Amino acid sequence: MNSVLDLPFTALQEALEIEGLNPTHATKVFQFLHLQKSVELPPKVRAWLAEQKQFVLNEVRSTPSGDGVTQKFLLQLPDRQDVESVLMGFSGRHTACLSSQVGCAMGCVFCATGQMGFRRHLTTGEIVSQVYFINEQLRARNESPVRNLVMMGMGEPLHNFQPVIDALDILTDTRGLCIGHSHITISTVGHIPGILKLAEVPRSYHLSVSLHGVTDEERGALIPVNKRWPIADVLEACREYSAKRDQHVLIAWTLIAGVNDSDDHARRLAELLSGRDIHLNLIPLNPTDGYSEQPPSEETVARFHELIRCHGTFPVTVRQKRGIDVGAGCGQLAS
Ligand code: SAH
Ligand code: SF4
Repeated sequence: MNSVLDLPFTALQEALEIEGLNPTHATKVFQFLHLQKSVELPPKVRAWLAEQKQFVLNEVRSTPSGDGVTQKFLLQLPDRQDVESVLMGFSGRHTACLSSQVGCAMGCVFCATGQMGFRRHLTTGEIVSQVYFINEQLRARNESPVRNLVMMGMGEPLHNFQPVIDALDILTDTRGLCIGHSHITISTVGHIPGILKLAEVPRSYHLSVSLHGVTDEERGALIPVNKRWPIADVLEACREYSAKRDQHVLIAWTLIAGVNDSDDHARRLAELLSGRDIHLNLIPLNPTDGYSEQPPSEETVARFHELIRCHGTFPVTVRQKRGIDVGAGCGQLAS
C-alpha cells in the first residue's frame, strides 16, 4: 500500500486485521480519512494511523473563469508533480471534473493532456483527494459539497482502472461522502478492455465514449489508439456495456471545423449510431497550443445538431462551453 488513503473500506478492515487491530474500528478510521471527521479511537489504532502515509493536495494555482461557474485548480501531488481539477456549477449542484493520470498515453492530437505525453498514473488517494480539496473550497464559501463527478480531467481513466474504481468505491461509500453512483460519469477514449471490465464491476456508472470520427481513417488521424480499438469494436463494447447495465452510453463527438463538422459527417454519424442505446454529446473543439484546428461557428454547430436530430433515432445535445477562457474546458487540462 502506498497510502492509507488508497484503501476502500474492506481493504481498510483487512489492513487493521493484519496489524492485529480490531476491524470494527474501520468505520471510524474511514470517517476520519474520508470525511475529515474527528473521531475517538483506541490508542493502538491511533498509533497505527499516525504511522501511515497520509497527505493533502496543495493548491499551486486557482483560476476562476469569467463564466462565474467554473474554477480550475492546479494541485500539487506528494511527488511534486501537478494535476488539474475543475469545479463546475451552481450552489448545491456542484460537479468536480477529476484527473486520473499525470499526462496521458493515448496521444489524441487535439487534447492538451495528450500533447504532454504520459508521466504517471494517479493513486487512489490522489484521485479522492482532488474531491476533498474541492469540498474544502466549497466549505470555506459555505456551499454544499460536490454532488456529481466526471472522470474527464487529465488522463484516460480506464488505462488506470483499479485505482479509479477504488477511488469511486471510496467516494460512493455510505460511510464516507456517499456520492450517488448515478451521479458519476467515466469518460474513455474507447479503451475496450476497460469498458468490458467496467461492465463487470458491481456498481453501475455512466459511461461516455469519445468517437470523433465515422471511419477508422478519420478517427485514427485524431485518436492514434483507434488502430488498436477501431470504431466497430468500440461500438460493440458500448453495446455490451449498455446491455449489461440496461442504460445508454454517452457518445462524445468533438466538433472540429473542416475536419468532422460537415453535413455529410452529420448524416453518416446519424446512420452509424441509429438503433443503438446511446445519447450523443457534441463538444465544439476547445483551443489548445499544440493543435491548430478551430471549432466550427455557432451556426455550423447548430446545423450539425439539427441534422443529427432529423436523421438520428437517439437524443443529441451540445455540451455547454464552460471555463474556456481559463483553459478549463474539455481537453484543455495540462500541467
Ligand atoms: N481520456 C478520456 C477523458 C478525458 S478527455 C477521454 O478521452 O474520453 C474528456 C473529453 O474531452 C473527451 O471526450 C475528449 O475527446 C474531449 N476533448 C479532448 N480534447 C478536447 C478539446 N481540445 N476540445 C474539446 N473536447 C476535447
Ligand atoms: Fe488522453 Fe482523453 Fe486527451 Fe485522448 S482526449 S489524450 S484519451 S485525456
